[in-house]
Formats: sequence, structure tokens, C-alpha cells
Amino acid sequence: MSNPVTRGLKFREPLIFEMSTPGRYAHSLPASASSAPGKVNLPAGFVRDEAPLWPEVSELEAVRHFVRLSQQNYGIDVGFVPLGSCTMKYNPKINEEVARMDGFAGLHPLAPESWIQGALELYWTLERYLAEITGFDCVTLQPAAGAQGEFTALAMFRSRLIARDGNPRKTVLIPDTAHGTNPATCAMNGYKTIPIASTANGTVDPAAIAAAMTEDVAGIMVTNPNTLGLFESDITQIAELVHAKGGFVYCDGANMNSLLGRARPGDMGVDAMHLNLHKTFSTPHGGGGPGSGPVCAVSELEPHLPTPRVVKTDDGYTFDHDRPESVGRVKAFFGNFGMHVRAYTYIRELGCEGLKDATDMAVLNANYVRVRLRDHYHVPFDRTCMHEVVLTDKHQRKATGVQTRDIAKGLIDRGFHPPTMYFPICVPNAIMIEPTESESLQTLDTFIDAMIDVDETARRDPQAILDAPTKTIVGRLDETRAIRKPILRWHPEAGEDV
Ligand SMILES: *Cc1c(COP(=O)(O)O)cnc(C)c1O
Repeated sequence: MSNPVTRGLKFREPLIFEMSTPGRYAHSLPASASSAPGKVNLPAGFVRDEAPLWPEVSELEAVRHFVRLSQQNYGIDVGFVPLGSCTMKYNPKINEEVARMDGFAGLHPLAPESWIQGALELYWTLERYLAEITGFDCVTLQPAAGAQGEFTALAMFRSRLIARDGNPRKTVLIPDTAHGTNPATCAMNGYKTIPIASTANGTVDPAAIAAAMTEDVAGIMVTNPNTLGLFESDITQIAELVHAKGGFVYCDGANMNSLLGRARPGDMGVDAMHLNLHKTFSTPHGGGGPGSGPVCAVSELEPHLPTPRVVKTDDGYTFDHDRPESVGRVKAFFGNFGMHVRAYTYIRELGCEGLKDATDMAVLNANYVRVRLRDHYHVPFDRTCMHEVVLTDKHQRKATGVQTRDIAKGLIDRGFHPPTMYFPICVPNAIMIEPTESESLQTLDTFIDAMIDVDETARRDPQAILDAPTKTIVGRLDETRAIRKPILRWHPEAGEDV
């Protein structure tokens, strides 16, 4: 395989390791007595046998190396990322400015309560905002992601069932449109899952819940709107059926972007839900960096929330550690506090009316994409959707042999990040698009034109799409090898031919 960084370039500067020249360096530090060779008294076990293999380069070479790497990243600040269910909305820069204020960014996690009253006020207030937005009584900001929020809430259900009946029950119902984290969450909490097939309409039939719900079932995990972008309009009846047998209703809140300011899961019979601050509340998804998955719950579950809780007293804000029924801590300190500052800023910036507008635009944009693409792509559930729409490759696959994967690669050549592919798994070869409220009509039209161009090119010259991408640094990978034998760094011993 040729070196991805240099694909197509006849002349190129050497890569940073190739450029390494003994004695070249990027720093100018004064000589220090303690760091002079032979002066450091490290225990034998900590001393290296050989020098680390680091490139020896100048400052300019190091800067170019990292800036080039940064230019190889596609992100929301570079272009549209239509990943369905992931909600890749714009992360306003004011969020960053506020999160970088000394009083927030410079806090020590062990600072005494009296020094961090402002931070605790923000924490407490954000919990109240999220409770109000979702229609619940209490919130914990501790979980670090949606998946951890799910885990926390199911642990709370389990604790509650044990406290109430002395029996955590055995299973949880999960519709077939669910994200993979839902069954994983159940397994981590010791529950088996019972899959519930969606109807031809794309939603859950209350009759299926009535048939499956027994006193062995701890509850249901339902995503609303579901990952087909369709609102589960029988949610209230489903909740009644689950409650009638003593179970709890969990809402996977990853799709809250279609409800914000307009409807509240807490009013629909749901007992607990998570929010993904990095989806709905404009905090960065962060290239592996911190997310945040607060859990909102009804008052019956409040004693089981993670400890400690931030509480408001006459003397200010303080931590309550005295919570004997709590599921315990799920994250060090307060969770990812920097994300809380950003989400708080987003809510304050938009206000009630702004949140409603965001929801309306997100839903309008998804429907615009659906209607403009329906003559070119198969839309399995072609009715008004919420904030995302699912297409498939059915038309292209039959007529041209081009499949979902190839459509994704064709889009990359046309300058766009692909949508979510092959998910939800109940739709064969799904292509799931979520435009969010952030994108302009011009961007949506350009994206739609690119999708149409992929379709038309596939019909005219399928090989052109099967060969895509041709304009990227990396060509089509051997996907099996990439997963099983990933090569994630430059190997000096193998040179550029790895
Ligand atoms: C993103 C997502 C999750 C998991 O959330 P993370 O924050 O990535 O852990 C769960 N369910 C649905 C439907 C999602 O889209």
C-alpha cells in the first residue's frame, strides 16, 4: 500500500520520522544542573535501556507535521456531517469562550466548597434546566456519555426494584430500532433482553408490549423518536402497560433534538432518560474527548441517583454524600464539568424560544432532505419524519450494483462526510441522514445535489462510484484488514511501505 499522506504527489517533503536528523531540535532551554546527564537519581526500574525513538526535528518541521495532520481531519467546523442519530450540530464558539474562563477552566477538583460556589450554582442550575426541558423531577450530571447514562439509569431501576420488591427482575424489552448501547447496558446490569419487532409502520405496537410484559420484566428501553426518525406515538399507552406490571420505562434521549422545547418525555410516562450533551446541547463530540450523558428521572428514583448530589441550602451550595440508597459514584468528581459549562451556555444563549426554533428547523431540514431525495433513493418509511430520515440503496443496488457503502464513498469524493450507514439494523442497507438545525438551505441543497449526482453517476458509470474515493488522502481500505490488523502509526522498521 502506498503511503496515504503522499498519494498522488510526485514531490513531497519527507515525513517527520524520515526527516529526523541527529542533533536537530526545536527547543532552547537553559542548561539545568538537575537535568544534566548523570545527575538524576531515578530508581533502576524506571531508567530506559535505550533512548526513545523520537524524531529530532526543528520547530518549523514539528509545526508543519501537526498542522498537516489537523488538515487531514474532517469535522463540523470544516463541513456538513449528516450522521443520523449522532446530531453533529454546530458547537458555538461562545461555548468555548465561557468554558475557558479562569473561574471554570482553572478550578481544582478538590477545591473547598466555599471557593467554588459559582461552579456549583451553574451545576445545580443546569440540572434544573434539564429537568424543566425533559419534564422530570431530578437530574444527575455525572455520567460521561449517553451509554454511561443508560447504564446509570438501569442500575437505578435495579436498585429501586430491589428496594421495593426485593427482586430486580430478569429481562428488559428493547425495540429492534434500538442503538447497540441499549442491549449492552442491560447486559452490564445483569439483564437479558427481549427484542420487540417494529410494525410495518416503523414503530412499536402496544399489543406487542402487552404480550411481552410480565412481572419478570424490569422495564423497557425505548428511543423516542426512534432511530427511523419516527415518533413513537403510542408511548403513553406503552408506558401504562409497563407500569401496570410494575416495570420502569427508560427513554434513550439521543434523539432529543426533535423534542427540545416542544415536548417532554417526562409528560409521556417515562421514568428516566439520558441526554447526550454532545449531541443535543452543542458540546463537542471531541475526537475521543469528553462527552456528557446526564440522567433525568422521576422523584421515585431520586434516592438512587449517583452520589454525591449538589444541593442548595440557606448558606449556599454544598455536596450531599449521605445517600444510602444511591447506586454510588459513576464518574470521578462532578462528571465532565467543562461540558456542563458549554451546555449551560447553549441553553442560556438560545432561551426557550430559541430551543423551540432549533427543534423546528431540525425537523424541517430532515423533511426537506427526505422530499428532495425521494425520487432518487428508496425511503422505506416515506411520511413526515422528525429530525432524521432513513433511506436505503434499494434502487441503486438493483439497477447498478452500487450499494450503501459505495454511496458513502461517492459522497466523500463530493466533499461530504457520509451519513450513518447500515443503521438502524432493522432496515437493510440503511443510509440515515440528520441535517440538524445548524445547516443552511444552501448547504442542504449542495449535499442533496451531491447525493443525486452519486445516484446519476451510478446509473451512467457504476465503476466510477465503485472506485471512489479517488480524491482523498486515503483510498478505499481493505475494511476487514483495517479492523483486524489496524496500522495506526508509522513503523520506522518498515518505512513507508507498511
Ligand atoms: C449516540 C447514541 C447513544 C450512545 O450515546 P454516547 O453518548 O455515544 O454513549 C445511544 N443511543 C442512541 C440512539 C444514540 O444515537
